[in-house]
Amino acid sequence: MDEKRQRVNPTKDNFPYKVELHVHLDGAFRLSSVYDIARRRKIDLKVTSIEDFRKNVCVYHAHSLYKVLSSFVIFMPIIAGDREAISRLVYEFCEDSARNNIKYVEARYSPHLLANSEPKPEYALQHGDLTPHEVVQLVNVATKKGMEDFKIRVKTILCCIRHRPDWSEEVVDLAEEFKQDGVVAIDIAGGSNDESVCVEFVHEGHKKAFNRAKQLGIHITVHAGEAGTAASVKEALDDLHAERIGHGYRVLEDEKIYKEVREKHVHLETCPISSICTGAVPEDIHKHPVVRFAEDKANYSLNSDDPFVFDSCLLDDYNAAVDMGLTDKHIVTSIFNAAKSCFASDDEKKEILKELVEIYGDIDTDT
Ligand SMILES: [Zn+2]
Repeated sequence: MDEKRQRVNPTKDNFPYKVELHVHLDGAFRLSSVYDIARRRKIDLKVTSIEDFRKNVCVYHAHSLYKVLSSFVIFMPIIAGDREAISRLVYEFCEDSARNNIKYVEARYSPHLLANSEPKPEYALQHGDLTPHEVVQLVNVATKKGMEDFKIRVKTILCCIRHRPDWSEEVVDLAEEFKQDGVVAIDIAGGSNDESVCVEFVHEGHKKAFNRAKQLGIHITVHAGEAGTAASVKEALDDLHAERIGHGYRVLEDEKIYKEVREKHVHLETCPISSICTGAVPEDIHKHPVVRFAEDKANYSLNSDDPFVFDSCLLDDYNAAVDMGLTDKHIVTSIFNAAKSCFASDDEKKEILKELVEIYGDIDTDT
């Protein structure tokens, strides 16, 4: 078994303008920098080389969501609560995205998981004075500099965490306060190494916060239909007002809900490599859900989810999708779909679509 993903040849990138809607900022850190930061902070990783660190953190094969979330438990304590680390990694994220020809990206993260101001922080090694509010400020400053230096458009989405409904009201407050600084939406993601909470369910506390977000005009995307069933997609639409669904593969388990998703043009943020590594989609499935979405002209995009953890880049996901049965035209369609369903302002969206037409021509996406 290879323990390293084969690097794609960047000169063979047929997609010079990519749009990415589903990537976790903390799942997209640069591995070498995280390793560096651990050494600076004298955190014992119990490995003697960066290659051993890579083996501990990265997931290359079909596994489970639990396994993928377990990787975060290894590296998040290195970063959480450290201002310098957060600023550096977010800036580098912009650089790495630009290097992959991503021209517009919406990166998501939980401000609470990067903070350390709670008496017993979830990830940070020690209690400190870095609040979720300041985390958002740090991320905003770093993305602004990254956008200027690397000529990329970066927006952010603030994640609520499934097992911490007590944080959600503050997430909505932060999204509202920083909407002029590139924060465009909220989400619910998993964020625990406890296997029992990896199944999708939604606490009433989240619903209350999401109702308020909708009233405030904050965009909403929700992880659903990944570890959970088609019913979780329905719940995301009905109870959480989701405009987009993170993953959504299991919506195919209920044709009625799938029909509703298609009729309402709900955008499905699919992540091919992630879908296999988390076990959301069986590796030996006859037809991957993304192929069905493409054939049915559903509104879907292709995304990397956690390129740090999967040791991948977005082009790897495009290639994986081709291996699953998508054509290059499907991929271009998915990029247009992403642009149309992104949470930028209408004016910015128009600019992005204009730029896309200049690169790929005026394709009929029919979604
Ligand atoms: Zn995700």
